Amino acid sequence: MKDTQTPHVPVAIVGGGQAGLSTAYCLRQKGIDSIVFERHEKFHSWRNNRWDSFCLVTPNWQCRLPDFHYGRDYGGTDPDGFMLKDEITAYVDAFAEKTRPDLLEHVDVTRVTPDGDGFTVETSIGTWTCDQVVIATGGYDTPIEPSYAAKLSPDIFQMHSVDYRNVGQFPEGGVLIVGTGQSGVQLMEDFTRAGRDVHLAVGPAPRSPRRYRGRDATDWLHDAGHYEITIAEHPDPVKALTQTNHYMSGRDGGKEIDLRRACVEDSVELYGSLADMDGTTARFLPDLRQNLDDADRSYLGIRRQIDAFIAQQGIDAPEEPPFAKVWEPAEERTEVDLAAAGITSVLWAIGFRPDYSWIDADVFDARGKPVFDRGVTAQPGLHFIGLGWLNTWGSGRFLGIEEDSRYLADRIAEQLAAAVPQACHA
Ligand SMILES: Cc1cc2nc3c(=O)[nH]c(=O)nc-3n(C[C@H](O)[C@H](O)[C@H](O)COP(=O)(O)OP(=O)(O)OC[C@H]3O[C@@H](n4cnc5c(N)ncnc54)[C@H](O)[C@@H]3O)c2cc1C
Repeated sequence: MKDTQTPHVPVAIVGGGQAGLSTAYCLRQKGIDSIVFERHEKFHSWRNNRWDSFCLVTPNWQCRLPDFHYGRDYGGTDPDGFMLKDEITAYVDAFAEKTRPDLLEHVDVTRVTPDGDGFTVETSIGTWTCDQVVIATGGYDTPIEPSYAAKLSPDIFQMHSVDYRNVGQFPEGGVLIVGTGQSGVQLMEDFTRAGRDVHLAVGPAPRSPRRYRGRDATDWLHDAGHYEITIAEHPDPVKALTQTNHYMSGRDGGKEIDLRRACVEDSVELYGSLADMDGTTARFLPDLRQNLDDADRSYLGIRRQIDAFIAQQGIDAPEEPPFAKVWEPAEERTEVDLAAAGITSVLWAIGFRPDYSWIDADVFDARGKPVFDRGVTAQPGLHFIGLGWLNTWGSGRFLGIEEDSRYLADRIAEQLAAAVPQACHA
């Protein structure tokens, strides 16, 4: 029998970011009560986990919280621009102000356990029961640092991108930035603009054109239906799920990033993937040439995709000059003495991994990833939202959260309705 002293809520939502609060809003539209548990404050990731110069990589028009689209429902006037950190928090805060979710901030959910027809949710302020649980904790819980980071000489300062705010946190001297996803390349720019010597360990991340044939590449891809492709229809779902985000930038109204150019124009020293560190020695794989070529291949693939769409639609769009490599590595440098090269710090920008150790349910694959169909798991009542390619490219971003949270609210309503007759018989 359920403990009548324990507070009960139909739906518990863990995580007060855009995914959790969008789901709470869509549930309320269906007359379903929920409580959002947030261990920090709402939109903590946007507010506190981004650096000072941060701006969106996706254009503002893609900011489409449920019934709160940039420019349509929210008074933004620059749909093709890229909001800065404070502008993003103003946008999401305005959504929370409008939707007024039942939100408990500074409450950590420490365990979720299936319990009869529902769940027990243990938190830092006590236990709840609920019929359904939505895990909206994002894909960026735990900063990844390789084990060899511990072998780095204590004379070299090191920091993960999650703690990075500005160049002023770093000692004088050169910096080795590890990783070339969207964070790594943007942090590279912060340091080059500050006149610092930048060394970059180039990983396998792909890159994208920014403006191409007169428009932002994302506009073309949107018109071509690219963002509507679901993971179920994707020609290469494994690649889609495992590939790092394409790098480009929203800075200065939107910029393309070609690391070959960064090498020539900003004197950035490029190396292959970082493989090991010991004392002041950094070892790299001999894959710089390969990684630059692969990034260009993805870049050219997107250009070809846009060209094909323009040709198919008979659109009159300006031509672009063919792509030319402005630089090739003469050699693969596989070992560098950081101290001798004047490198005084290392900035880790190799991403994050989620932590689901607090969920007691058999819904994870051998690698610990949740298994679901559009967020709905095989454990009745347990759902995920806000993860990359949960359904489409936009699922882990602003673009897809409206569609995903409406879909999930529908499934939750169905499951709750299906459970009602059983409760009456009990
Ligand atoms: C560097 C970076 C740049 C990005 N740039 C863009 C961009 O340009 N455009 C775009 O559309 N998207 C971008 N994204 C992706 C995405 O939009 C953001 O990650 C967004 O914050 C995801 O929202 P979310 O609600 O899914 O997760 P989060 O915002 O991470 O929210 C999850 C919340 O859950 C809370 N939480 C976690 N565990 C618990 C627990 N056990 N108990 C209680 N609370 C918990 C956390 O404190 C957090 O507030 C970017 C992501 C990163 C990391």
